[in-house]
Amino acid sequence: MAPETHAAITGAELYHKLSVLGQYDYDRAACDRYASIIAEIERLKAQRRAVVLAHNYQRPEIFEVADFIGDSLELARKAKEVRDAEIIVFCGVHFMAETAKVFNPDRKVLLPDLKAGCSLADSVTAEALAQRKAELKQIYPDLKVISYVNCTADVKALSDACCTSANAAKVVNAIDSGHILFVPDQNLANYVQTQTGKQIISWDGNCYVHHQITAAEVEKVKRGLPGVKVLAHPECRSDVLGIADAVLSTSAMVRYAQESGATEFLIVTECGLSDRLLLEIPGKHFYKACKLCRYMKMITLEGTLDSLRHLRYEIELSEDVREGARQALERMLELSA
Ligand code: SF4
Repeated sequence: MAPETHAAITGAELYHKLSVLGQYDYDRAACDRYASIIAEIERLKAQRRAVVLAHNYQRPEIFEVADFIGDSLELARKAKEVRDAEIIVFCGVHFMAETAKVFNPDRKVLLPDLKAGCSLADSVTAEALAQRKAELKQIYPDLKVISYVNCTADVKALSDACCTSANAAKVVNAIDSGHILFVPDQNLANYVQTQTGKQIISWDGNCYVHHQITAAEVEKVKRGLPGVKVLAHPECRSDVLGIADAVLSTSAMVRYAQESGATEFLIVTECGLSDRLLLEIPGKHFYKACKLCRYMKMITLEGTLDSLRHLRYEIELSEDVREGARQALERMLELSA
């Protein structure tokens, strides 16, 4: 992947495109303003040889300047493939920008807002993990630590392998141990336990966005929309997953919705994914769980422009943490290949 310039979009075109989305205030004046910011971002991207990577949960107007949109595994791979760019602007949260830095030590990796963190990543520190790992190794000498990519680089560096929601079961089944300490998401750990004969020891963490979704809410929508296909993210509670038609990562949801003969879907994950589906798959209906991640939404078009203008905020990692995290991420890519 190399820097590329997108064709300019007018305010009228942007308004036509975004006004189908309900929850944001996309009037003509806002779309005119966004169109001029988008043009300036594109100009600066070309001037600075920068690429923009955006997570599926970003604001819809951010998708307009993204060179690639995807889930964490796809973004990890894309970050690794960046060749000709000098700068990566990461429109996502802090741990994702760290992953881009892990694979691109010689490039400047920028996160437009340093407050864009993650409740899940915050639930495990390297110190707490090191202590728990040492305790469990006394009981299970073959113990391996698998960390979901939604954690900090220093936690990844203490892990035998990373995983994403798309490949977690595959990585657990492929690693050479029968006892797995799985951090930090308890819901994903519980889901993986249903996919493996190995013993999973879970960490007590969760994503506040997915953990607040209840089975009762999903049942209510199902009753109102008979035949709707329910697609749920594995960070949801097990009773929510139990009533879903499919349990999928965000990018697998995109493929499922494109390929399925069904026309109505309830998307049980952060609302940004439903926005992407609405924009990319016209003619099908996507109902939202109406849960927004406050951290993902801290990234704005204005902040992205300032990031490129002032080259801020740069992600930096010590070499031992970067190398440890790189090994755990490479192991994930090998085990899930
Ligand atoms: S949706 Fe959840 S896991 Fe993703 S960044 Fe937000 S808090 Fe973290």
